[in-house]
Amino acid sequence: MPHPQHLLTNYRRLKTTADTSVASELGIYACPVCKRLLRQEEGVLRCSICSQAYPIREGIPDFILEELSRSADPVLRRMRFIDRMARIYETRLWYPVVLNLYGGFHSPSLAQMISIVSQKVQSTNGRVLDIACGPGTYGRRIASPSKEVFGIDVSMGMLRQGAAYVAEEGIPNVHFARARVEALPFEDGLFDAALCCGSLHLFADTVIALREMARVMKPAAIHSVFTFGAGRGGVLKFRRVREWSRRNAGLHVFDLAEMEQYLTASGFEDFQPEMSGSILTFSARKQTA
Ligand SMILES: [Zn+2]
Repeated sequence: MPHPQHLLTNYRRLKTTADTSVASELGIYACPVCKRLLRQEEGVLRCSICSQAYPIREGIPDFILEELSRSADPVLRRMRFIDRMARIYETRLWYPVVLNLYGGFHSPSLAQMISIVSQKVQSTNGRVLDIACGPGTYGRRIASPSKEVFGIDVSMGMLRQGAAYVAEEGIPNVHFARARVEALPFEDGLFDAALCCGSLHLFADTVIALREMARVMKPAAIHSVFTFGAGRGGVLKFRRVREWSRRNAGLHVFDLAEMEQYLTASGFEDFQPEMSGSILTFSARKQTA
């Protein structure tokens, strides 16, 4: 039987290991402004260059210091509504309604969408960035011992819901942070793959958003995206609806040539699109040179 002192030493060692794993996860985050690695202090991540402190709320680092309800961006102004949506987001009250309304009545189900998106990153191991992750709808379902997922979203309500699902479902290797797509809290070339599901059409400037995603990806890393295209399904098949949505709701509906131009301008290549109704799924790779 081991001496109690050994037990204590073992316990300390275990505890140190556990603490190190938490610290190493937070140690990956960089300042969204100057992109230098942040130092972890009591309840905050601090940038010594910008003298800025980013709070950690309920284990979730928050890199958005401005009040989004006063944003010029109509999508970001709706944040309180999006926060409240978190609980029903993955239920039949929301996801299938949006897919069928926008994408057309033969739109893939959420389960099919998850399978389409996951297949594209299946053979990739390492770090996966999940852009506008919501409650980890896609990211937590592709996380594995060999895939560590970092989800970012602008809605704290969605991120909290994601953290609750991850805890309930006992999923390892998923981390959440609140950040804007235009200012990702990561160093250059960190990710082996990226996902962006159901949100590319909502970003104020598509090229700025894609360029920032490319910055944090490794050369040739794969990007798997689901968004809306000017296809033949749902209300988005009507040009007037697309124009109205763009003007009033900040919703961009892409056509394929436009999407390819945006990707090339942002540092991606090997565009592989698929349209189903008005749902556009595609993969692209970060340019190698
Ligand atoms: Zn900084």
